[in-house]
Amino acid sequence: MDYISVKARAKINLTLDVTGKRPDGYHELRMIMQTVELYDKVFVKKIEKPVIKIKTNLEWLPTDNRNLAYKAAEVIKERYDIPGGVFIELKKTIPVAAGLAGGSADCAAVLYAMNILYNLKIKREELAAIALELGSDVPYCLMRGTALAEGRGEILTRLPACPEAWIVLAKPAVGMSTAAVYKAIDAIDGYSHPDTEGMIDAIKKSDINAVASKLSNVLENASIPMCPMIGDIKKMLSDMGAVGVLMSGSGPTAYGIFKDKETAQKAADNVKKTFNIRDVHITKIFNI
Ligand code: ATP
Repeated sequence: MDYISVKARAKINLTLDVTGKRPDGYHELRMIMQTVELYDKVFVKKIEKPVIKIKTNLEWLPTDNRNLAYKAAEVIKERYDIPGGVFIELKKTIPVAAGLAGGSADCAAVLYAMNILYNLKIKREELAAIALELGSDVPYCLMRGTALAEGRGEILTRLPACPEAWIVLAKPAVGMSTAAVYKAIDAIDGYSHPDTEGMIDAIKKSDINAVASKLSNVLENASIPMCPMIGDIKKMLSDMGAVGVLMSGSGPTAYGIFKDKETAQKAADNVKKTFNIRDVHITKIFNI
């Protein structure tokens, strides 16, 4: 086999809680992650020349070792003494720097692809350890599905599949620094925390209304004041029939959960027009 094509899917947070700050500077997190169908197409091919070459449809995205897909290929190539090189084509659809873990998903997809392409037979735990070196969300992106993520995000517990639903994702056209959001949340106290156990119960009961009622992300307390449009989009998605709305990760993407495609489509069209934003996607919960 000389090449492989894989789908790197985005994630949303059903909950996100900050439970502490560690001496190493990382925040202690407790969050429920969910894969959605929206994906980047990742094509990985063996080449003779011993280089890593990346081509992408976003001309402004770095194609050197600042790209997480490059880093994934590099670490596997070095650690497993792979001769020759790798050509990677990224067809990006997942909005970048959005709270949807697009870079981490591409990274996980390349780790997975390299393991198969070179028949390396890297064990799941070993691949997860390499994934964590590359980013806190990468181990989850390898695992996919519904999961409780703790620690930096790497302590993963598989949960039963989240009930099916349509999801409208809308990303305001603003740059939002993850570091700035975490810094801002450190300066705020007295906010309410997600009912993580309640969300797990709702998922176990496969009750989409209960899931919708338990959506909660503490980082909204920091991100919405920085970008009020996130709150405005949430309100519009609710008004247009979403059973639940939330910001994903550190933002700025807001999403709504819908029971049917027509209502989701109308809400997406309205958000796109009202806020004049390009990054609006209709997708679905993805379970493995
Ligand atoms: P997370 O939810 O894990 O915080 P995110 O959705 O907020 O992720 P990404 O889309 O992963 O953010 O991008 C964050 C940064 O990573 C961007 O500034 C981008 O330049 C860089 N990056 C590196 N590799 C990639 C990639 N393959 N795709 C997208 N961004 C990448």
